[in-house]
This record gives sequence, C-alpha cells and structure tokens, in this order.
Amino acid sequence: MPAPAPDSPDRPSAVPALDLARLRADFPALAQEVRGQPLVYLDSAATALKPQAVIDAVTRVYARDCANVHRGVHLLSQRATEAYEAVRAKVQGLLGAADPSEIVFVRGTTEAINLVAQSWARPRLGPGDEILITGLEHHANIVPWQMVCEQTGASLRVVPITDAGAVQLEDVDQALGERTRVVAVAHVSNALGTVLPVRAIADRAHAVGAKLLVDGAQAVPHMEVDVTALGCDFYCFSAHKVYGPTGVGALWAPRAVLEEMSPYQGGGDMIRSVSFERTTYAPPPHKFEAGTPNIAGTVGMGAAIDYLAELDRDALHAHEQALLDYATQALSEIPGLRLWGTAAAKLSVLSFTMDAAHPHDIGTIVDSHGVAIRTGHHCAQPVMTRFGIPATARASLSIYNTREDVDALVRALLHVQEMFG
Ligand code: PMP
Repeated sequence: MPAPAPDSPDRPSAVPALDLARLRADFPALAQEVRGQPLVYLDSAATALKPQAVIDAVTRVYARDCANVHRGVHLLSQRATEAYEAVRAKVQGLLGAADPSEIVFVRGTTEAINLVAQSWARPRLGPGDEILITGLEHHANIVPWQMVCEQTGASLRVVPITDAGAVQLEDVDQALGERTRVVAVAHVSNALGTVLPVRAIADRAHAVGAKLLVDGAQAVPHMEVDVTALGCDFYCFSAHKVYGPTGVGALWAPRAVLEEMSPYQGGGDMIRSVSFERTTYAPPPHKFEAGTPNIAGTVGMGAAIDYLAELDRDALHAHEQALLDYATQALSEIPGLRLWGTAAAKLSVLSFTMDAAHPHDIGTIVDSHGVAIRTGHHCAQPVMTRFGIPATARASLSIYNTREDVDALVRALLHVQEMFG
C-alpha cells in the first residue's frame, strides 16, 4: 500500500514524514541475514549500528589522513589535527554548549564519569560529604563514585525508584542535604528506559550547593539535548550509541569548572612544559586528554553528528515513540510476559521477563530467528535486585527499526512460549 501523501488526512499532522527505507539503506549491517533470516537488530541501547558515512569517515582517516594529531608540521598531521579538532564544535552544537573548549574527548561515558569523580570530586570531598545517585544507574555511574567514597571517606546515598522504575522528586528532596556535594543521575535509564526529570533535579542539587553530573549515554541517541536548558554541571555520552565508533565519547563542563579541575592522567599532549622539577598543564580541554587519542574514532563521532544533523530529529523522535507504543502493546498481549519499567516518561527500551523461560533462553531462541536482543543485568544489577529478578531480556529501539522488526520479535517470543510453556 502506498504511504499516505504528506498532506493526507491519514497522516497525523504532528508527525512529520520519515523515509524509513532510505534511512535503513544508510546502515549496511541491516542488509545481512543472520541465521538464515534478515537481521532484526533490537540491541541499539548496547551499541547502535553505524551508517556508511561514519564507516567512510573512519576509513578516510586511516587510508588518507593517517598521522598523529597536534605534533606534526607535515600535511597529513595537519589534516588529521584539523579533522580531529573540528569535532569539538560538532559536539558543542549537539549538546548546546557555549564553546568548543568545553568539550573533552574521552573513551566514552565510563571514562567521562571517572574523570569527574577523580578530577573534580576526589580532591574536594572528605568524610561526612555525600554523593547522591539513583537506584536505576548503570554501573558506570555507581562504581566510580564508590571508589571516590573509599578514597575520601565520603558516603554514597541512593534515591529509590518506584515500582514503575521512576525517580520521584520527593525522594530526591528527601535524600539531598547540606552535605550533598555531587548528584549523578542518568538522563535515561538503559535498563528501564525511564527519562529522569533532570532540570528539576538540577535546581534541587544547586539549591544545596551540589554539582550535577548527567549520564547522557541513553539520551543523546533519542532526544535533543541542551546542557544550558538542563542546568547541569557535567554531561557525558558515548559515540557508539549515537551511530558513531566505539571507544570514544565526550564530557561537557563549563570552561570555568574545567579550569578549576586538575587532570588525573598525565602524559604527552596534556602539558604546557615539562621539567623534572615542575610540569605545567595545557589549558582545558587538552589537559584532560593525555596520550594519543582515538583519532579515527573521534572523526567518526563527528561524522555521526553530521549524519544526525541531516535528519529531522522531531520525525525520528515521533517514529521511535510510536514504535515504543506499538511494541509495548504487542508485548503486553503475550501471556506470561511481564514488562519492567513502565514510567510515564520513557523511551526506547522494553525490558521483560517471561514465566516460560529464563532471559538467557529467551535471547538464544530469539537469536535463532535472526532477532538480536540483550539479556542479563544490563550493567544495572541494583535495578534487578530492586525488582527481585536475576536478569531481563531487553529489546531496544532505534531510528532504523520498523513495526516489522517488532512483529518478528513477537513471533520469536511466541515460539519461546511454545517451546517452554
Ligand atoms: N551509562 C548508561 C546509561 C549506559 O547505557 C552505558 C552503556 N551501556 C554507559 C553508561 C557506559 O557507556 P560506555 O560503556 O560506552 O562507557
């Protein structure tokens, strides 16, 4: 059936048109068969597929501009440096930051949080101080803070989550106090899909004089982010979840905050001058980027941001939300299936268990249908503990998924039920 014309009454006017077939053609991995079936990729929360433009950008670095950055006068090094440094302004635009020098390139969300924990929190916290996180955090936003607590004598407090997997502001208020120095929250939960009320949390954190770090790993792929509007003090994400390469990401903080922080890793490229008596550091962001960086990955991250910028993000968001509604309805109709994470503000993720089978068996059988989902604790063991379950199966949606993908998942889950039920 032909798609309704853009001005047709069949198309709700609030939802702009999206050429899904064209968009899917940008992702070469989608063109393959897996276990004899067309690939249905429902694991983008773990890592997103890459468009050809990103693959080409990475290849170009190695094939043409293959040189180290910052240190060479030769042409290849100049080209590599320009391509690498140009990505700061792209990330600045993506996050609504004030200046490219506020963007620190890191290995990913994990390294960004460790950097803030070690460079901002560790020198400033002591016994009696508190770090506040929530009950739905990824291990990357738990363990670095536990390490700082061990190092400084500070203590970790946790805002509980509701049965639906939401974070309530009353509970944030209850947990915040005059000893709270850092609040660190996910913008969107990877295990449950919950969207946190970051702006309101920022206001509360600042009212007690605490800094707010936001883990944007699951938000940047799905929503427009503006760090100024969010009012946070640190924001970070990983490129590989936003259609970019693995092993690279970015940390944003205001220039003045970066100026005040000392680096926690030393080496080449982060210094102004070195002698055995005394070393001085380069200005931010370079003082946080010791060693040869992931040059090709960073350029690939820039290509991913350019790719996203070409798309209509409102249309993508509407498409993903409509698909989440469709999938939520379809999965709810499967007898013995329970969805975890039903907060009103939610995106992209369907975490579930089935009476019939353990999540790992679900994952294996679904894979035999060519459907890729994730099973386990999703690096959020405390979420599993909160709900008294060992693991979930998790299907996560992205811009290139279709209703047919969801239908394939449902067929595979009905097969699980037949086998184990
Ligand atoms: N936080 C969240 C919410 C995540 O989903 C992830 C990745 N699963 C991370 C942090 C860690 O990201 P990375 O492994 O890319 O550093």
